[in-house]
Amino acid sequence: MVAVLLPSLVLVALTLRIVTQERELAQKRIADEHRRIAREIGQALLARLERIKLEEAAAAASDPRHFSRRRYLNAEVVFVAKVVDNHFILPWDVARPPGASSVSDQNTEFARAMRQAEYQEFAIKDYPRASDLYRRSAGSAAALDQEGYARLQLARALAKMKRPRESLSEYQKVLSLPPGVVDEYGVPLSLYAAEPVLQTPAGSRAVIDRIEAELKAEAWPSPAGIYLARDLLEKIRDASFEPAVQKEARDALLEVRQRLEIMEQALALQTDFQRLGLAPLQSTDLSRGEPPWTVYGQRPWVVGLTAATQAPGSLLVVVDTQSLFSSFWAGQDIPKDVPSGFRFLTGLASDGLPLNSRLQGLSLVFEPNASDISSKPWSAQRSFYFLALVLVLGITLFGAYLLWRDVRREVGMADLRSQFVSSVSHELKTPLTAIRMFAETLRLGRSKDTATQMEYLDTIVNESERLTRLLNNVLDFSKIERGERIYHPAPASLAEIVRAAARAMEYPLKQRGFALEVEVDEGLPEVRVDRDAIEQAVLNLLSNAMKYSGESRTVGLSVRREGDRALIQVTDKGIGIESKDQARIFEKFYRVPTPENQSLPGTGLGLALVEHIAKAHGGSVRVESAPGEGSTFSILLPLENKP
Ligand code: ADP
Repeated sequence: MVAVLLPSLVLVALTLRIVTQERELAQKRIADEHRRIAREIGQALLARLERIKLEEAAAAASDPRHFSRRRYLNAEVVFVAKVVDNHFILPWDVARPPGASSVSDQNTEFARAMRQAEYQEFAIKDYPRASDLYRRSAGSAAALDQEGYARLQLARALAKMKRPRESLSEYQKVLSLPPGVVDEYGVPLSLYAAEPVLQTPAGSRAVIDRIEAELKAEAWPSPAGIYLARDLLEKIRDASFEPAVQKEARDALLEVRQRLEIMEQALALQTDFQRLGLAPLQSTDLSRGEPPWTVYGQRPWVVGLTAATQAPGSLLVVVDTQSLFSSFWAGQDIPKDVPSGFRFLTGLASDGLPLNSRLQGLSLVFEPNASDISSKPWSAQRSFYFLALVLVLGITLFGAYLLWRDVRREVGMADLRSQFVSSVSHELKTPLTAIRMFAETLRLGRSKDTATQMEYLDTIVNESERLTRLLNNVLDFSKIERGERIYHPAPASLAEIVRAAARAMEYPLKQRGFALEVEVDEGLPEVRVDRDAIEQAVLNLLSNAMKYSGESRTVGLSVRREGDRALIQVTDKGIGIESKDQARIFEKFYRVPTPENQSLPGTGLGLALVEHIAKAHGGSVRVESAPGEGSTFSILLPLENKP
């Protein structure tokens, strides 16, 4: 057992070891694979960023207004800025360099006219005169911002003259100037006219539309303009009773707030710019290669500088990571054979897989369940190992079971054999003792009475017959074991055979007080059988019936036809056999293991021989029995129809 179990245990341990090693290897493979994918994606992402930078730089080189536009070549770009002296210029400052408004120029015709009008309005308080002058300036203005400015003043003067309708109409004119007309602070002039218009019935909607139009203007508005727009929208949202208008205001507010966030982050970037360590690059620094990209801010952005190939200074390109990632997924840049199920991380402290040394603060994480690259082969491998293990263990255990069963059977057989030897010796001794005793009595001539002498002789004959039967059984059995038992079939009458057996047992039966009832069907045809063998089988059954009869003294013997077979039956009313033993009593050496049964002499061979003989004749034996009620043993033999 140990010899079988120990190797299996070692096998199990080895397999488990292999499985864990295999798992570690697989995990390492997955990690390596993830790192490789991250590098590949990093490469692709970097290439895309560099392309964006080159394209924007080329566009900026050919058109200086590129810096002030809100829309760039690539949708991912937030803004592009010129870097001068460690500092970059914000796009709205490019759009309107401070003091660049035509309104603020003090030496123009327009400025002089306005100064005159204001003098009339504020010093003399001659409002009709002032408004006249304003109106004239508006009419002759050279630029839209001048016109708008003049009209705003005019509207104010009209209001002071208590002519609200005319005042409002001027405000409305300003409100419908084309978008992008701003004052020197970058505030759209239309927004200054918004407040009075709000008082009119459709005013709110007009102002919202106006703000949306300003947001769509080509140039970046200034933060001041956007703040004013926000205040107006908040006012409309809080004051309006119309749900539709409220909703419009809220939607516009959302956009305005987003724009403000971008602007505030751009301002913060301007402050932090030098700390980022991106700048400034001299054209001589080109040997260091292209500078890295760095993640910045809450939104977050990736910012990168061009090496300053075009003088003066270099260019700052700011890219929104969210739109970069989504366009990256949508575009062609994504390397093939890259699985889904990962996302980008932004932030300098992020602990994902690094993408590229030139993409600072960008990394990649794989979703926990996204290890589909190698998990499938791995689980297949694992199930293979477990299957193999189960198979090997199964075979080993089955082998162990077979071994155990054989050993148990051998041990049982050895027991039975030794029991057999002792019972045979015992069985031989009993008749021999009787024969000797009666023979000696006769020789001494003590008994003169012939009847008694005859009786002694009968006993001697009977005992030697019993001895012969016993020896025949043993000899036949050993022949059967060696495969040498040969039967000699010849035509014979079963009735005869049965009667001969009854005769042979007559004396011992009578001596023990048994009444034998014999029933013979004389009409049975002759059959080809080994006469002696069949008689031996019947004798075995009869002597069993006698032996296992207990208190009962009736034994029945019959032969008759049953269908196309002959049926020989031996019946007793003795101790009977339990059904669990009925299946085994035909095995060699088997004896029912109850104490009273064991006290009776026997070898366990009788029924084994009966079965062998019946089968050799193409027949069978069966037993019907119940404990305490007796047993009926039947030998069934085929009746040959051939002559
Ligand atoms: P033996 O009689 O020498 O023990 P057998 O092969 O003839 O061997 O019988 C096997 C066992 O079957 C017996 O030991 C006995 O327990 C049981 N047996 C056989 N015949 C009968 C019977 N007529 N009634 C009860 N038990 C029987």
